[in-house]
Amino acid sequence: MFLTWMMMCLASAGTWTVTPALSAVTAMPAVGVPRAAYRRDDWQPHLASLRREFGRNKEIPAQYELETLIALSHFPALKDTRIRFVLRSKAPISSRPFVWTLLRGKKSRRVYRIGIDESDRWSGSPALLKNMSFNARIGALGHELAHTDYYETKRWFHFIAIGASFVSKRFHKNFERGTDQRAIEAGLGYQLWLWSRDIRGGRLAESPNSWLDRFYYAPAVIQDQMEALPAYEGLPEIGDSEDVGPSTDEPTNGVF
Ligand SMILES: [Zn+2]
Repeated sequence: MFLTWMMMCLASAGTWTVTPALSAVTAMPAVGVPRAAYRRDDWQPHLASLRREFGRNKEIPAQYELETLIALSHFPALKDTRIRFVLRSKAPISSRPFVWTLLRGKKSRRVYRIGIDESDRWSGSPALLKNMSFNARIGALGHELAHTDYYETKRWFHFIAIGASFVSKRFHKNFERGTDQRAIEAGLGYQLWLWSRDIRGGRLAESPNSWLDRFYYAPAVIQDQMEALPAYEGLPEIGDSEDVGPSTDEPTNGVF
């Protein structure tokens, strides 16, 4: 009797079916489109899909993986680009190619480095990724990826010209503002605005005393640029009168 029961169990074992888990059955929302806010809880279930689609050839620190993949989803041209996100940087966050990889000929063999400062040099500073909100991080990473996206359109010798041109404040301003514009056009306007506001201590309007405003779009300028683009039509208005007046810009070393 026992033997018969054992044999029945064994015979039926091969026909058992496993019911798929009910979690993660919802489709991933559209990527790369402007969103007033990304909610971590909405996107966490899609981490594996984001990794598959946007995580190729990327080294991403685990603690910033979701926000980095979301920022990457706005730059489809970088899907296969090799990018290392490194937790070491002289500026709070920075972006550059590994210079020797520019000489490899093919762009596909280039490697870019996005540095994230995790040290305690400016502990508590809103310019550090670790102190930012989820959406401001996406904005900061989006600005750096807009640099990478621009670099990918350049040949190796252009980098010599770019490096040399940094002695000009006017070039530096056009370079950084062009990068902000690229991030807005990539659909990251809301997140860039948030980052831009937070690193200014809440200030929205341009201030003549701010070195940040000399090179980067102030939040009010980001808003103007978003309003000029059809992609942002019909989307929620950006925060209202949160202008808390002039603030002292955080001391930073170098550029974002
Ligand atoms: Zn920059």
